Amino acid sequence: MISEKMKEIMRSGSAIRAMFEEGKRLAQIYGKENVYDFSLGNPSVPAPESVKKAIKEIVDKTDSLTLHGYMTNNGYQSTREVVANNLNKRFNGGFSAENIVMTVGAAGGLNVALKAIVNAGEEVVVIAPYFGEYNNYIANVDGKVTVVPPNPPTFQPNMTAFEKAINKNTKAVIINTPNNPTGVIYGEETLREMSAILKRKSEEYSSVIYLISDEPYRELAYDGEKAPFIPDFYPNTIIGYSYSKSLSLPGERIGYLAIPSKADGFEELVSACNVATRILGFVNAPSLQQLVVEKCIDEKTDVSAYDRNRQLLYAALTEYGFECVRPQGAFYMFVKCPIEESEFVAKAKSYNLLLVGGKSFGCEGYVRIAYCVSYDMIEASLPSFKKLADEIFKK
Ligand code: PLP
Repeated sequence: MISEKMKEIMRSGSAIRAMFEEGKRLAQIYGKENVYDFSLGNPSVPAPESVKKAIKEIVDKTDSLTLHGYMTNNGYQSTREVVANNLNKRFNGGFSAENIVMTVGAAGGLNVALKAIVNAGEEVVVIAPYFGEYNNYIANVDGKVTVVPPNPPTFQPNMTAFEKAINKNTKAVIINTPNNPTGVIYGEETLREMSAILKRKSEEYSSVIYLISDEPYRELAYDGEKAPFIPDFYPNTIIGYSYSKSLSLPGERIGYLAIPSKADGFEELVSACNVATRILGFVNAPSLQQLVVEKCIDEKTDVSAYDRNRQLLYAALTEYGFECVRPQGAFYMFVKCPIEESEFVAKAKSYNLLLVGGKSFGCEGYVRIAYCVSYDMIEASLPSFKKLADEIFKK
């Protein structure tokens, strides 16, 4: 028999995955081209050609025992050096290989970071709307989730609510900017205030509160926007990065944690992350993909493709009467439900539009549209969105 904890996790399920499965079912009935599946954040831009080239070169030229062998838990020294230098070039972080732990994507990195710092019963603050998997990651370490309520229509976190969520039991805060599901980038003012609150509270409780910055969408920003670099604001930051979206490699499971030397307990923290990588069963991040990162560090995905999708969808949906958060980054649009959420999701599905309810992100009354799909699919879906709007707004 399975554990009670797993039973609970399985009961809560994943609405995103469920909708994705539903998409496959509907595609069999109506034909793939007539189903508009906006459920999953699976990149539609292929990985850069240089990734394919790098994989071939690495496989051909690296000694097989080295390439396929065990290694240090934090990953190749050479890869970590390249990652650190790249961060220094862009952000002046003062990083070296010692500050980097290669991880199994952002999910692996977040689990490692939480394992390293959270005692059972300690609180981890998340800011709604947030990636629902955080609940499971926090449950994995028997932590307690504390949710800061959403702050529409800007979805910049409300600082009064944020301050209220912090107490003597708070061990960490997870932020995600550019944000899934809103596409919002937290501004400098928000981060300055957040940092001031965390410093004040750490002092008041004589505790260390880590800020875990989950950054898989850092490189996906539009209109010249840039996601601020969190260690510039708060020293006790743990950055969790991923190449799932920025190089379109979600199935390859590669990312890193970057921990600034000025973080409290730096050396012990890094060692704990290395050990957590081992004992969570990852042992180390995939060897081949680390070497791909090393070779392709300056590569970028074609953000302009997502931007085209964003502009087309935003213009159309707002014209049809929907209230949408204008995304500054990532590849999601958060749309206010004109009727009750589950009813709206069901009605959208009746037009073969597969959207994920905001409830999955701790923010009821919205839906998330993952527009990391082909431009053609968005174009083809617009008449269905129009019919949906006409029905709901009774035009
Ligand atoms: N964090 C956020 C906010 C995400 O949206 C995702 C994936 O969609 C992840 C983490 C997990 O990313 P990875 O594939 O790198 O594990």
